[in-house]
Amino acid sequence: MPDANIAAAETLDAVIIGAGFSGMYQLLCLRDRLGLKVQVLEAGDGVGGTWYWNRYPGARCDSESHSYNYTFSKELFEAWEWSERYPQQPEIMRYLNHVADRFDLRRNIRFGTRVVAARRDEAANLWEVSTAGGETLRARYLITAVGCLSTANVPRIAGLESFAGAWYHTGQWPHAGVDFSGKRVGVVGTGSTGIQAIPVIAETAAELTVFQRTANYSVPAHNAPLTPEFKAWVKGNHAEIRQVTRSTPNGHAFVIANRSVWDVSAEEREALYEAAWDKGGLQFRATFRDLLVDKQANNTAAEFLKRKIRGIVQDPKTAELLADIDHPYAAKRPPIDDNYFATFNRPNVRLVDVRSAPIERITPTGIVTAAGDYPLDIIVFATGFDAMTGPLLALGIEGRDGLPLAEAWAAGPRNYLGLQVAGFPNLFTVTGPGSPSVLCNMPVPIEQHVEWITDCIAHMRAKGLARVEPTEAAMDGWVAEVNAAAAATLLPEAGHSWYLGANVPGKPRVFMPYAGGMARYRETCEAVVAKGYVGFAMT
Ligand code: NAP
Repeated sequence: MPDANIAAAETLDAVIIGAGFSGMYQLLCLRDRLGLKVQVLEAGDGVGGTWYWNRYPGARCDSESHSYNYTFSKELFEAWEWSERYPQQPEIMRYLNHVADRFDLRRNIRFGTRVVAARRDEAANLWEVSTAGGETLRARYLITAVGCLSTANVPRIAGLESFAGAWYHTGQWPHAGVDFSGKRVGVVGTGSTGIQAIPVIAETAAELTVFQRTANYSVPAHNAPLTPEFKAWVKGNHAEIRQVTRSTPNGHAFVIANRSVWDVSAEEREALYEAAWDKGGLQFRATFRDLLVDKQANNTAAEFLKRKIRGIVQDPKTAELLADIDHPYAAKRPPIDDNYFATFNRPNVRLVDVRSAPIERITPTGIVTAAGDYPLDIIVFATGFDAMTGPLLALGIEGRDGLPLAEAWAAGPRNYLGLQVAGFPNLFTVTGPGSPSVLCNMPVPIEQHVEWITDCIAHMRAKGLARVEPTEAAMDGWVAEVNAAAAATLLPEAGHSWYLGANVPGKPRVFMPYAGGMARYRETCEAVVAKGYVGFAMT
């Protein structure tokens, strides 16, 4: 068995960057199934990836717990029991630590180790991976498992450095937590994260000011402890749950209704939306099959949700600001919540519209918008991430002839199947741009990618092949397919969405995830293999 303390000079079969869901399973597959020498490098001091860093108040997964886990091992699936409908961040951390222990993964993970560069030694056909600590590891394969939402996007607001209070980004939350009691807190951002954090922060802050640029839909999560009956059902139905999550377009354990908005009367539609609202969660999207492809159909859901906001929020001006949503429902990642809109009925919470009166600067005492001054003790940036490409470009990867990945992707990401880039042989990106990734329940694409990469490496070794990379033509074809899949939906209509890179100033506006659905993506990958890895050059 390979040992944890692999000498830096020793050549490895693979370096994996990241020890979240992806990196842990990739390690297990390469080490235990293929018997390779593998080293995982992880910047954090523990496993967990995205969940290691995102420990903000209210952090909880929006996927239902029975579908938010690995399914490769029936024994693992049956050994673990989630306590609530949606797992909270600490429980997900317990799960991932349980997996690390169960499969003895830690001995091949080096924690507190940030990768700062990865260069090709083309003559030796190796990747040279450099860490912030000054070490260099050499490996045949380099696999990035860095997640899609791990590079915090802190807006560049003039004067931030002068702020005399404390400020935090939700994706880099202090492990010791933050005490809001008696404080005047400002939250910037009303995406999935802000919508989860705001109700929790409001419970202890003296005053909470929410700075909203784009109003957002949200559906109640209706989180609750799982009943013993449901837990027993989950344990007894590993195969069925796995089958459903592998067959739905988004990898969730619910099936999208096979009916159009226009198949039912207005009264029936209202009743169906009402029932979906009462059930709660991301499956509100599954009420009709055409919500994401037909704008008029989408309008019926959007209007229903806006009426709900107006019904919950008592102050009419605040309700109007919250319901003034400018994009189709679910064209941005739809949040789900626990008392989000009702939180604005609390006397200690106010909403500030920074769309009509943008934030101008931060002073030592608070935030100044075009409409006024807001004195604050703490600022929380729930402002999202430099998504998908950000974590990859931060690694300093250079391919053949020293070509930086940042240069290869200057006009936006280009790759094949989301997995490989021409000019970067033997580099695999788990949930890279062009993968269905963030449009899915993440463990499902992760398991598929990791298994596909493992099979590809096994194939290479069996055939005595040394290098794999896609052809330019295959990349062009995949980029066209990713664009076409997005264009067939309403997703690109949310022009400010992070799916498009629009949240980061200067980032190319390219729709990044593959919107054709996980099931179709899986079939495509299987067909590529069946045709002898068509689109890949293996030498
Ligand atoms: P996000 O969706 O990108 O939302 C960021 C928010 O910050 C938006 O409201 C944005 O406004 C605002 N913002 C950014 N810069 C700003 C500025 N300079 N001034 C004012 N407002 C600004 O980020 P997120 O909420 O962290 O969510 C990111 C993704 O993480 C989600 O879409 C989801 O995929 C994932 N996530 C999942 C869960 C879960 O499963 N439970 C929870 C949280 C997050 P604009 O819209 O105007 O840009």
